[in-house]
Amino acid sequence: MKIAIYPGSFDPITKGHLDILKTGAGIFDKVIIAVARNSEKKGFLPVDERVKLIRESVTHLDNVEVDSFEGLTIEYAKKRGAQVLIRGLRAVSDFEYELQLSQANSALCEDIKTVFLTTKPKYNFISSSTIKEIYLNNGDISKFVPQPVYDYLVKRKVC
Ligand code: ADP
Repeated sequence: MKIAIYPGSFDPITKGHLDILKTGAGIFDKVIIAVARNSEKKGFLPVDERVKLIRESVTHLDNVEVDSFEGLTIEYAKKRGAQVLIRGLRAVSDFEYELQLSQANSALCEDIKTVFLTTKPKYNFISSSTIKEIYLNNGDISKFVPQPVYDYLVKRKVC
């Protein structure tokens, strides 16, 4: 059974992330989308809310599990019996960082391979930080995030 981990901040999950996840779910037997708990980095949304929103956004994907983890991604991947890490690439600017990360992970455990996926062009420019910026400036984010995220953020603003 080929298990892949899709790790990230997902703060919040976007349609770009979802597109990568869907592609991954079509390639691997199981994909675990895992939110990194980073105590140093104060996020926009609490990790537990991010996990809940991802769960609500992936109900159509049978072989996807949602989880969170602390510490090194590669240790988490080993613990979950994964052979693959999925990362997404948007532009050349992502490449250098992602290449370094994948090489570091491969130096830590050469049996776990990083696979890079890309999205449909219409989702390519979407990032969680762009969405936060648009949302905080009262712009319309409905095209960029799954419905549960949209509903959650609209409700949060009203409260
Ligand atoms: P991180 O903080 O680990 O970069 P993110 O949640 O920002 O976490 O992103 C997780 C992964 O998804 C990264 O590999 C990132 O490049 C990728 N990604 C995010 N948005 C997109 C997108 N629109 N198209 C392709 N890949 C994306």
